[in-house]
Amino acid sequence: METYDLVILGGGPTGLAAGLYGTRSRLKTLVLERGTIGGQLAVTEDIENYPGIEAITGPELGQKMLDHAEKFGLEMEYVDVESVDLESEIKVVRTDGKEFHAKALVIATGSTHNKLEIPGEDEFSGRGVSYCAVCDGAFFRDRDLIVVGGGDAAVEEGTYLTRFASKVTIVHRRDELRATKVLQERAFANPKMDFLWDSTVEEVKGNGLVASVAVKNLKEDRVYDRPVDGVFIYVGLSPNSQFLEGVLPADEMGHLHVNLKMETKFPGVFAAGDIREQSSRQVASSVGDGATAAIFAEKYIAEHFTE
Ligand SMILES: Cc1cc2nc3c(=O)[nH]c(=O)nc-3n(C[C@H](O)[C@H](O)[C@H](O)COP(=O)(O)OP(=O)(O)OC[C@H]3O[C@@H](n4cnc5c(N)ncnc54)[C@H](O)[C@@H]3O)c2cc1C
Repeated sequence: METYDLVILGGGPTGLAAGLYGTRSRLKTLVLERGTIGGQLAVTEDIENYPGIEAITGPELGQKMLDHAEKFGLEMEYVDVESVDLESEIKVVRTDGKEFHAKALVIATGSTHNKLEIPGEDEFSGRGVSYCAVCDGAFFRDRDLIVVGGGDAAVEEGTYLTRFASKVTIVHRRDELRATKVLQERAFANPKMDFLWDSTVEEVKGNGLVASVAVKNLKEDRVYDRPVDGVFIYVGLSPNSQFLEGVLPADEMGHLHVNLKMETKFPGVFAAGDIREQSSRQVASSVGDGATAAIFAEKYIAEHFTE
C-alpha cells in the first residue's frame, strides 16, 4: 500500500488550506472527506468576512479552495473515516473497507449542527424542519418561518431566508442576540424579521408537514402554540471527534487539545480548525490553522523521514 506524506481528515476550509500548503511543499497529499466539499461552507449562503473577498457564497468559496489545491496536485477521496492508529511512525486511517497510510496527519473534521432534541424534531426533519437555509430556503417561498437560535448562524441564515419567506421569526432564549453587531443591525432593519425573546421551542407539531410549534415564554412560564410552515434550527455545533474518543485528549465537548503548532500529543499528528479547542470558528481562522498545521507537518516529515 502506498504511503502518503500527508493525509488530511476533512475537506472543509481547514483541510483544503492544509491541502494547498502540503501540495505546494511538494508533499504527496490526500484529503479524506465524507460529505460535501467545503464542510460548513456548503451550508452557508453569504461569506463577507473573508479578507480580500467582499462577498461570496459558501459553496463557491469551497469550490475555489478545492480547485486551487487540486491545481497543485491535491488528491481527494470521498470516504468516512472510522478509526485511526496514531502510535506507530506511519499513521493508519481506516474507513469502511479502506486503509490509508501517512507520514503525518492533519485532523480537520470540523463540527456539525446540534439538534434541539425536542419532540417532533426528527419526525419532521426534511418535512419543515431544517438545519440548512441554503439547501432548503427556496422551498419556503411566501411561507411563515421560525429560526431557533441567537448567534451569527441563526441571524445570518434567518436574514437570508427573508429572500423567500413572507416572515421570519427568530426565537431566542435570551433577551438579546449574541450575533455580530453588523448582522444584528441588518436583521433589526429587515421588515420581514420578527423576534420572540426569552422563548424556547418545546415541540414541533403537524400532520405530515410542520404546522405549528409549541413555544415556551421563559419569563412568564407559559407554553402556547404558534402556527408556522418551517423551523430552521441553529443552536450551536459539536465537534466531529467521536471516532477519536479515548485516542486523543479533548475538552468536555470533544475539541482536541493542541499547541500553537497545532500539534497533538502524537508526533506527526496535528489538529486544526473547528475541531481544536479554543477555535474562533471562522473561515479565516480555520484557513490559518490549516496552513499552520501543514507547515509544521512538512517540517516534521523533513526531520523524521529521510529518502
Ligand atoms: C450556517 C453557518 C454560517 C457560517 N457563516 C460564517 C461566516 O459568515 N463567516 C465565517 O468566517 N465563518 C462562518 N461559519 C463558520 C465556518 O464555516 C467554520 O468555522 C469553518 O467551516 C470550519 O472549518 P473546518 O474545515 O475546520 O470544519 P468544517 O467546515 O466543519 O469541515 C469539516 C469537514 O470534515 C468532514 N468530516 C467530518 N468527520 C469526518 C470523517 N469522520 N471522515 C471524513 N470527513 C469528515 C465534514 O464532512 C466536513 O466537510 C458559518 C458556519 C455555519 C454552520
